[in-house]
Amino acid sequence: MPYTAPTTEQRFALDVIADLPGLAALPQYANASSDMVDAILAEAGKLAATVFAPLNMVGDRTHARLADGVVTLPPGFAEAYAKYVEGGWAGLGVAEVHGGQGLPFAVAVAVQEQLTSANMAFALCMMLSQGAIEALAAHASPELQARYLSKLVTGEWTGTMNLTEPTAGSDVGALKSRAEPNADGSWRIEGTKIYITWGEHDAAENIVHLVLARTPNSPAGTKGISLFLVPKLLPDGRRNDVTCIGLEHKLGIHASPTCTMRFGDNGQCIGWMVGNEGGGMRAMFTMMNNARVQVGLQGVAIAEAATQHALDYARQRVQSAKFGGGREPVRIIEHADVRRTIMTMKSLTEAARALVYLNAAAVDRAHTGDKAGQGLADLLTPISKSWATDIGVEVASLGVQVFGGMGYVEETGAAQYFRDARIAPIYEGTNGIQAMDLVGRKLSMDGGQHWKDLLGEVRATLSDLAEDEELKLIVPWLQDAADSAQTTSLWLAGHNNPDDIAAGATPYLRLMGLTIGGWLLAKQALASRSHPDAQFAAAKRTTARFFAEQLLPQVQALAASAMRGASLFYAIPEEGLAVA
Ligand SMILES: Cc1cc2nc3c(=O)[nH]c(=O)nc-3n(C[C@H](O)[C@H](O)[C@H](O)COP(=O)(O)OP(=O)(O)OC[C@H]3O[C@@H](n4cnc5c(N)ncnc54)[C@H](O)[C@@H]3O)c2cc1C
Repeated sequence: MPYTAPTTEQRFALDVIADLPGLAALPQYANASSDMVDAILAEAGKLAATVFAPLNMVGDRTHARLADGVVTLPPGFAEAYAKYVEGGWAGLGVAEVHGGQGLPFAVAVAVQEQLTSANMAFALCMMLSQGAIEALAAHASPELQARYLSKLVTGEWTGTMNLTEPTAGSDVGALKSRAEPNADGSWRIEGTKIYITWGEHDAAENIVHLVLARTPNSPAGTKGISLFLVPKLLPDGRRNDVTCIGLEHKLGIHASPTCTMRFGDNGQCIGWMVGNEGGGMRAMFTMMNNARVQVGLQGVAIAEAATQHALDYARQRVQSAKFGGGREPVRIIEHADVRRTIMTMKSLTEAARALVYLNAAAVDRAHTGDKAGQGLADLLTPISKSWATDIGVEVASLGVQVFGGMGYVEETGAAQYFRDARIAPIYEGTNGIQAMDLVGRKLSMDGGQHWKDLLGEVRATLSDLAEDEELKLIVPWLQDAADSAQTTSLWLAGHNNPDDIAAGATPYLRLMGLTIGGWLLAKQALASRSHPDAQFAAAKRTTARFFAEQLLPQVQALAASAMRGASLFYAIPEEGLAVA
């Protein structure tokens, strides 16, 4: 499927929402000059369009395959990976001290969006490696960093994340993999991990697995878990005792090998501890927080690709006369219902992108020691992960609808976007778990200061909107959304019954996503007044108004649902739910 990188759109979101000029003024991100970011977006956009996108359907049809412990990627993938390495893309957002280019995470995220839109299954490999780099940079000893970080930063080696086991999914604390100390300071790892993304493949010489396991006599639950670096090839070049024993057959992302990994079948699996004993969850959270923002980004990327694809079709397909418009058939984009669909896809995509870029910039600020940045990143991460991935699925589904029957059959690729998108609400902590994190931890952090500050910023934008002749039309919609978001936040924060709070978690997360999305589009509309491209600016204004009028009203309905409590959820006994 063809893909064009939306570089103007991305650059605008980086400037207005991520405050790229403000980031570039910080010493850590001084490399992010305006010209540099433009050049990066243009070049990465070319790589995405000409190298990644042509392989998207190939990967979907061919799948990654396993034979005798060797995983072979679909044709063209290993060569494409070599081009990614050659271009130096793996080190884009890595600090210079670790051999990277020292650019903000927000810029790396914009590049990753392009690669993911073009080929989500492939770009997952890069995403996992970036998370591994971040975890090792933050927690590994200088010796481990010297041995492994530089090859991950060049992209010569790739990284994986190993949490899940057959009986430990959402409940990571239930994991059973074990680590026994060796006399030389290394550890012997034993256990089975399932669903390991890019756990084995033929595109890189070595694979660096980050594995959670329990040390002897460690306490039960998450406190007893430590993190280990387990390479596929040991430092002396020998093969470590780690094998891929199975590949999953799955709904989408067929080119991404989802592996069952056996560690230590022969008692010879060597690993090294990353960080402190018992500190595994803390270290892994560094990787997971990075990955959660990036999984949210997958929602944005798929939504962008599906929207481009559907728009292209809607501008060509001729079918039916216009409602009340005579007998002459028209292109389907002229029908109001199709236009509604396209506008919904476009505005949801832009809103989700703005949210994820804001989140990424907050992570960048947090890395400089900015406490408010950390608070915002903490609050936004579950919302980005869940809301943006739900939007990925929703927009991809709308894309199938625009294609009609041609969307349901596999020929056009609209169905692939839908199938690929569906994993993102599941992995990296399901969206349900993210919603629990939002109401259970993030809402009450620092006495609720972070959500109060955020809604304060929404209200400040209302005053700016009120002074613009056209954009003041957004005010009542955004005001109502902010009021509902505030009422619901206070209700959840002040409520004691855990079942009631848990019952409201998902509608609350969604209403926060919509409110923040509507706010960020309004901010873009205001900023577009000084954009040199009049057509782009006009579209920004209309998109913000469309979102406010057509999508923000959902916030009140979600607020009502979030505050109803759990009593009806449990009123029918389990047996009563079964077939009557
Ligand atoms: C294609 C793919 C790639 C993956 N890649 C990786 C990887 O690279 N590394 C890795 O470690 N793992 C990976 N995973 C695993 C993934 O992260 C887990 O599947 C996910 O965390 C959910 O765990 P589970 O499948 O055991 O579901 P379960 O935990 O059994 O959850 C089932 C349902 O119950 C809900 N649920 C569970 N607990 C609660 C609760 N406390 N409150 C409310 N609802 C709850 C969940 O939301 C979900 O809807 C991958 C999975 C897939 C399918």
